[in-house]
Amino acid sequence: MAKERRKIEIRGIVQGVGFRPTVYRLAKKYNLKGSVLNDSKGVTLDIEGYSKDIDSFSEELKRNPPPLADIEELSSKKLPPKNFREFKIIESEKGEEKRTLVSPDIATCRDCKKELLNNKDRRYLYPFINCTNCGPRFTITKELPYDRKNTTMKRFEMCEKCRTEYEDPENRRFHAQPNACDDCGPHLKLLDCKGKDIKGSSIDKTSKFLKEGKIVAVKGLGGFHLACDAENETAIKTLRERKKRPFKPLALMAKDISVVSRFVHLSNEEKELLESPRAPVVLLKKREKCVLPENIAPNNNFLGFMLPYTPLHILLFQNLEVLVMTSGNKRDEPIAFGNKEAVKKLKDIADYFLVHDRDIWIQADDSVVRVIDGETLFLRRSRGYSPGPLRSPLGNKKKIIGFGAHKHNTFSISRDDEIFVSHYIGETDNLETIKAFERGIKHFINFFDIPPDIAVVDLHPEYEATKFGKKWAEKNKKPLIEVQHHHAHIASCLVDNGLDEKVIGVAWDGTGYGADEKIWGGEFLIADLKKYERKAHLEYIPLPGGDVAVKEPRRMGATYLYKTFGEDFLNLDTDFVKKLDRGKWKLIENMIDKKVNSPEVSSIGRLFDAVSSILGIRDFITYQGQAAIELEMTADKKEKEGYNFNLKSKKTIYVIDSKPVIKSIINDIKKRVPRSNISMKFHIGLADLIVEVSKILRKEAGINKVCLSGGVFQNIILREEATKRLKNEEFKVYNHKKLPPNDGGISAGQVAIAMKTQ
Ligand SMILES: [Zn+2]
Ligand SMILES: [Zn+2]
Repeated sequence: MAKERRKIEIRGIVQGVGFRPTVYRLAKKYNLKGSVLNDSKGVTLDIEGYSKDIDSFSEELKRNPPPLADIEELSSKKLPPKNFREFKIIESEKGEEKRTLVSPDIATCRDCKKELLNNKDRRYLYPFINCTNCGPRFTITKELPYDRKNTTMKRFEMCEKCRTEYEDPENRRFHAQPNACDDCGPHLKLLDCKGKDIKGSSIDKTSKFLKEGKIVAVKGLGGFHLACDAENETAIKTLRERKKRPFKPLALMAKDISVVSRFVHLSNEEKELLESPRAPVVLLKKREKCVLPENIAPNNNFLGFMLPYTPLHILLFQNLEVLVMTSGNKRDEPIAFGNKEAVKKLKDIADYFLVHDRDIWIQADDSVVRVIDGETLFLRRSRGYSPGPLRSPLGNKKKIIGFGAHKHNTFSISRDDEIFVSHYIGETDNLETIKAFERGIKHFINFFDIPPDIAVVDLHPEYEATKFGKKWAEKNKKPLIEVQHHHAHIASCLVDNGLDEKVIGVAWDGTGYGADEKIWGGEFLIADLKKYERKAHLEYIPLPGGDVAVKEPRRMGATYLYKTFGEDFLNLDTDFVKKLDRGKWKLIENMIDKKVNSPEVSSIGRLFDAVSSILGIRDFITYQGQAAIELEMTADKKEKEGYNFNLKSKKTIYVIDSKPVIKSIINDIKKRVPRSNISMKFHIGLADLIVEVSKILRKEAGINKVCLSGGVFQNIILREEATKRLKNEEFKVYNHKKLPPNDGGISAGQVAIAMKTQ
């Protein structure tokens, strides 16, 4: 049989994921000669051998790529033979390497876990074991190329044994930049709350303290967690009090899948996500008889679980089963990631600190996902996913930076057809978060060598991210574009689905600055990446007290009742009205009537708040979306009826009147219909409304594709009902896939719009 030579080009996520060593090992296995190199498009092989061997090689590579690789395309063409003698990994040119990607951080792989727990292995119980297929990446890398000297591992010189592994292309640790062992690598330390060393085995002591109900700040991949025993209600209560976080659900980490399944229901997709190398927090439906304390996630039917994703976690869980592992931050501040910083900021929350000397260069909170209809829905896209780029359907030679919005904020920077969406920054309204935002932006620009040519900000003049972006553009003398919030939402859904065309965009959220300077949030747009037209919206209603009303859903409840029934609402025979403080209401009524500090809003988020409060579910909130989430949790899915909104046509725009819905809810309350049914009828009413308006717009504009975006679509009942009902009417429905529907996706949408228009 004749030998042949082929050029094989591979596209997809194939760089910074141990692809070349895998190719090297497979080439050896099939006795192929030639070379492999990274280039701007991906990985290119120049390979020679028997054709059946090359075929088997390609097959195996496709079937069994490195865990984090994703082969989008593999093309091959014949070349004249050259009789190569050996197989080589060709080092990339420096310029090229800046284009390569560094992979996100990766959970400890099976092989490393095995070695970690094998008392014959030289890394037995070593908490920093890693290999080409796993370990820290993005969070320890200061600049590209991804090379040890450019990571925070620089200060640790590899011992001879580690170096031998590192230099051997056939070793699993070939070019594993964080490679280390107990002799040459980082070490653990346990500190008390004053930052003083505690002698003895750090892991054993930590487990012991946790079992005693103490709170320990544990340094992870992208920052500190605050950990406590998840079966100890008092410890959780203490953690909540110290963190000033009374209700927001806390994430959990469990030893393994079997422990998780004792507390929650698990589908195959959910299991896969939990055990995936990206190891996100997955929101899972609680079992009826879940024995974990209610105060982990009050009034919530879901628990957020993750599995141990670093060797340190695995060691901790040798003696433990389930821990609360919530972000190590003070309320609303970014996650702490430096040792000294953590002790300084968290000393009033944590009793102890489990730290180490491998520095984190850039923080990354845990990613949070849930599964709907077998698909992943991101609530937060960060560790394990960032900075993996999103591929846009457009390319643009100009580099664009989007500064995002306000809540759940991220920023995004583009290069050609790639959009690099940042790690989770959080709510950019306090100094610490803004500093983290600024540092992140600087890091990304330098890291990927993408000095932006164009800046994009939200239309809201008061958002800190907008102000920051404007200053940035001025300082760097770059053009600035302002994008309307809900247009950015729909654009993010378009780019998330690889679309570049006109769609019906349903953008529902809590707050977004409108083109008429009012607050939007219940919007139907006809939009593409160029422009949008507002076609329908929820009727404006006053928001008495502005932000105060956002934190106090009962104000929205009273306002909706007032607008629906007039002053007579005070005579309604419902618990909500009976317990309403008349004196306070008079003041609010005055504000509304005199239009004092009562901006007008068309927000579905506020309508959710109103209904939640009228039903007696939630009058005050302590975290964003709480009233709506608890209303969703109450819904009884067996209910099949829905409430009817009234659609009023005003010239070219439709206004959605929710008064009939409020009236029906009051009628149902009077008839003592359970609130679980009322909640479901409200959800179905909203889903039907989406279908009704979409049908009108389809008729008017001849568009059959619907994009659903905005924070409201984190609500699975609404998303499921709307999607199902739209599909029944032959619509093509697009939900988010890789970006969160909330404001975490805004920056990518902003960039996509600039890509199209600039
Ligand atoms: Zn490994
Ligand atoms: Zn070593």
